[in-house]
Amino acid sequence: MSTLRFYAIKETFNRKPIAIEENVRRSELFGKNVFNKNTMRQYLTKDAYKGVMDAIENGVKIDRNIASQISASMKDWALSKGVTHYTHWFQPLTGITAEKHDAFFETIEGGNAIEKFGGGELVQQEPDASSFPHGGIRNTFEARGYTAWDPTSPAFIWETTLCIPTIFVSYTGEALDNKTPLLKALQEVDKAATAVAKYFDKAVTKVNASLGWEQEYFLIDKALAKSRPDITLTGRTLLGHSSAKGQQLDDHYFGSIPARALNYMRDLETQCMLLGIPVKTRHNEVAPNQFELAPIYEETNLAVDHNSLLMDVMEKIADRHNFKVLLHEKPFAGVNGSGKHNNWSLCTNTGVNLLSPGKTPMHNLEFLTFFISTIKAVNDNEELLRATIASASNDHRLGANEAPPAIISVFIGSQLTEVLDTLEKVTKGKISPQEMTDLKLNVVGKIPEILLDNTDRNRTSPFAFTGNKFEFRAVGSTANCANPMTVLNAIVAKQLQDFKIEVDSLIKGKKMKKDDAIFNVLREYIKASKRIRFEGNGYSAEWEKEAQKRGLSNYKTTPIALQAKISDKTIKLYEDLGIMNRVEVIARHEIEIEEYTLRIQIEARVLGDIARNHVVPTAIKYQNILIENVCGLKEIYGADFRKLAKEQMNIIEGISKHIEKINEGVSEMIEARKKANIIEDSEEKAFAYCDKVKLFFDEIRYHCDKLELLVDDEFWPLTKYRELLFTK
Ligand code: ADP
Ligand code: MG
Repeated sequence: MSTLRFYAIKETFNRKPIAIEENVRRSELFGKNVFNKNTMRQYLTKDAYKGVMDAIENGVKIDRNIASQISASMKDWALSKGVTHYTHWFQPLTGITAEKHDAFFETIEGGNAIEKFGGGELVQQEPDASSFPHGGIRNTFEARGYTAWDPTSPAFIWETTLCIPTIFVSYTGEALDNKTPLLKALQEVDKAATAVAKYFDKAVTKVNASLGWEQEYFLIDKALAKSRPDITLTGRTLLGHSSAKGQQLDDHYFGSIPARALNYMRDLETQCMLLGIPVKTRHNEVAPNQFELAPIYEETNLAVDHNSLLMDVMEKIADRHNFKVLLHEKPFAGVNGSGKHNNWSLCTNTGVNLLSPGKTPMHNLEFLTFFISTIKAVNDNEELLRATIASASNDHRLGANEAPPAIISVFIGSQLTEVLDTLEKVTKGKISPQEMTDLKLNVVGKIPEILLDNTDRNRTSPFAFTGNKFEFRAVGSTANCANPMTVLNAIVAKQLQDFKIEVDSLIKGKKMKKDDAIFNVLREYIKASKRIRFEGNGYSAEWEKEAQKRGLSNYKTTPIALQAKISDKTIKLYEDLGIMNRVEVIARHEIEIEEYTLRIQIEARVLGDIARNHVVPTAIKYQNILIENVCGLKEIYGADFRKLAKEQMNIIEGISKHIEKINEGVSEMIEARKKANIIEDSEEKAFAYCDKVKLFFDEIRYHCDKLELLVDDEFWPLTKYRELLFTK
């Protein structure tokens, strides 16, 4: 066995669960390292507290004087917890989060020093960020960007550093991060949803979009992960024959969690509690060594920050437990990949979930308004939604025979399908008084309050209604939720704006009663968005055909899927809503397309390297042993050797064939890369990587995996699937 593989496996034999202390109640730990409302009340003056609350609740700007008071209190609080540094914490356009740490420490006259943290340092900073991707924005406009405090997401302490959530923008105001457009989209959906909610309840003054993400991941022993250059460099295995036992027995799903993994989770959850991330559930997932973690849902901006923070925390805690967390969407071929379901709903300041059916017809009409408008928004923007979840790694899930398909559709369950079908069938034009009574009594009035029915959940749907929320399931496990959430909230905001205009015009122009007008508009929306609704098996070949007939997109790879992000329609949507301008939209596309190319390029290099430098030489070594054996047999048995050496000779030939194919594949792949690399246009280059380079991956892998089955296990250099996935 190769030394690396041998030692990696040996190391895992001695692994014991790392003991963790846990004698405090979780509720007591919750938010201990967060500068939350309670802490603020304790540390801030009345004025400062009011200032922050005004900023959080009403978006009022915080003045310099108040900022100084807040920063001083924040510093005192942080120092009381042994913190030495602070950082503006933000989400650049690639990577999870970025930080630049500064000490509170400052020297003063006389050779002494003090701890200092001023209001200016809290509110605004200039990270040395010339290396963050910015798609040309900063070159075009200004050389620098700055980070600015986002008071709606509380500061927290992580690894002895005070982290201040911030946005990252250029001096000319273009967003350079994921948070800025998200905040704007949330503002827009708040405005639009509040205006519509007022039809039903005048007391509504604010609507919050909620997000509850479910994070899937794999846990692999650290030493085993390190023994694989592909996992180390790309986050996934580029080759490896599937294990004799995979997930076919379904014995991992909801089974008991192995002790080492459980201790990791407990430790992780404790950290989450301290950081105010309200994690609630944990369980095994479908694939071996695959798990899921989900919190209680929160306001979207906060939930997005918490997910970004979580991904970082997960990796660091894993290290402590001698694990490596794989967040990649498809770390192993042949077993399920990982996603990040985004559960989304809209909630009013009066405490009503607008996507939850209620007890009265009036409440249900409100529910239907938001429910149908969301479906309509998804229908009209399915390509943009698809684009927002596109990435090199998510391509392995979407449209690659795995959950969910690359076609966006909406699943709503049989009960609601019936409701919408009935609504659709009422007369054209104005609804008659009789129909109105009927609808209220028999359709709207009878929507069951609780729709949650586990048997009625379609797991193959990328966008499913699950009782009181929509679940966007196609989001990738590595994704920053900000992107899908920006798009979803933006398209719903736009749809609700349109809805309001249409209803108002019926009320004013056609002198319709409010309810009549609402029913009329909804009925048209149901018709207009019928094609997006699909209740069947999303993985089936029939659905692909059917979807094509319905005119739904089915983009299986990132470069093509991303095009919807820069369509005139998308740019208009963002510009109308004031979320992003053309330059920002195009810059983002540029970054994503480049990232795609880089990821495929890295994978191609690593695969070529492993195939040529690890697999082929190992196969030759083993082949030489067989040759020696055959020669020996010939020496002993003379002409009779053929009978005795038949199998050996078959293997020798087999090895040669596979080696030939691998070398051919790698050479051709290198040539394709060379051609792609000289392409100037970044989109064209991405297409070249997608269509001309990536296509060699499967072929090269196939022959490497065949060799894995032929070559003596003792020689094989790479830790095998069965070892990666089944070592506890
Ligand atoms: P599953 O989808 O695995 O069956 P649940 O439906 O119970 O699990 O919840 C999954 C996630 O949905 C959790 O993160 C939870 O907080 C979130 N969630 C529940 N209700 C809402 C809601 N109204 N809005 C947004 N997220 C929600
Ligand atoms: Mg779910």
